[in-house]
Amino acid sequence: MQALEDKILQEGKVLSDTVLKVDSFLNHQIDPDLMREIGEEFAKRFAHERITKILTIESSGIAPAVMAGLIMGVPVVFARKSKSLTLKNHVYAAQVYSYTKQTANEIAVSKDFLHDDDVVLLIDDFLANGQALLGLIEIVKQAGAEFVGAGIVIEKGFQKGGDKIRQQGIRIESLANIMSMKEGKVTFQREEQLN
Ligand code: 5GP
Repeated sequence: MQALEDKILQEGKVLSDTVLKVDSFLNHQIDPDLMREIGEEFAKRFAHERITKILTIESSGIAPAVMAGLIMGVPVVFARKSKSLTLKNHVYAAQVYSYTKQTANEIAVSKDFLHDDDVVLLIDDFLANGQALLGLIEIVKQAGAEFVGAGIVIEKGFQKGGDKIRQQGIRIESLANIMSMKEGKVTFQREEQLN
């Protein structure tokens, strides 16, 4: 998605060969116009699916997920990372390992908001090693819901999550796919290189 790639080039900060900071439009301050375009693009790419619910993870997945939900006319549920859920036993839960923080966290979704008749689209801000996405997929499985695929705002294609999950036959749509961030320079993988 051209507007997103332009924004990454203009405002993204490469912190290392593997970490991109996008605090000015996605992870801290949020650009609503760009989020709307992102929501529209996800809605377009998954237009042929009978989606009933979008599932994401707090906090940075919420903005793009809500925009997609608004345009697709479906509710958005976010998995919580904290254990503040009042109904502790009434949840689907999965472990998510963070390579960057080197810690495992439990994520949880109340059973009130995900059911076996739901058709679920997952949305998240980044795809790196795939742990967050795998945790969300596990929650969809526990709910017995149908899973149509994942919409990712920024995939770091040089990390292995995307390949690993696509090899399981899962559909992943990334709006920007970064091939390399060597020497502070972001290079995108072009669509034609992906096919
Ligand atoms: P994964 O589980 O795929 O390894 O990582 C995905 C999660 O880690 C995302 O939800 C995102 O919050 C975070 N993440 C991974 N890589 C980056 C990065 O380069 N920049 C930022 N800002 N977050 C990242």
